[in-house]
Amino acid sequence: MQVMLATGNADKVRELEALLACSQVTAAPAGFDPEETGTTLLQNARIKAAALRPDAPADSWVMADDSGLFVHGLDGRPGVYSSRYAGPDATYADNCNLLIEELGDRDDRGAAFACVLYCIAPDGEVLVGSGVLPGEITRQAAGADGFGYDPVFRPLGDERTLAEMTRDEKAAISHRGRAARGMARLLGIA
Ligand code: IMP
Repeated sequence: MQVMLATGNADKVRELEALLACSQVTAAPAGFDPEETGTTLLQNARIKAAALRPDAPADSWVMADDSGLFVHGLDGRPGVYSSRYAGPDATYADNCNLLIEELGDRDDRGAAFACVLYCIAPDGEVLVGSGVLPGEITRQAAGADGFGYDPVFRPLGDERTLAEMTRDEKAAISHRGRAARGMARLLGIA
């Protein structure tokens, strides 16, 4: 089975390639970056998958990932706007710093990562999967692996941030790992 990923985010490509190791996975053409105008992960995942479908090889599935970090004490922000939290050109570090600053010394630091995977088959059939990882926002960044908010997110029941885990440890529990394993079962490649 061939899968083309509808994302321009190299970090997501790296994680999804590892998670879907039994398929032939390719990245979207360079510059693929459709405007994410949705207000939910599902809407934005659909926008990305539909945008790539006409340009993907006819015999290949298209798979879009939309994901974000939902923080309880911030009424669910940054949520769908996670990549743009500190501004349109925000770096991962800018976003992490703003999050820690906004939460201040609040005790309510509960949060969850969520991921929606939206797949369109060569014949137009649609499959959708999702995954969630509950945890909390740390008071300072720790760890150098992973990407995005990994240095400031500690999964429930663990002492380390996601950025302090190995790639395999993160994949075993992450929102994207859960969504990808569910999708692999739907696709019959698990
Ligand atoms: P989008 O799905 O491309 O709109 O952006 C998702 C954003 O959510 C990323 O740019 C990251 O900031 C954040 N994010 C999603 N998944 C992860 C993850 O596994 N670790 C850390 N941050 C993530």
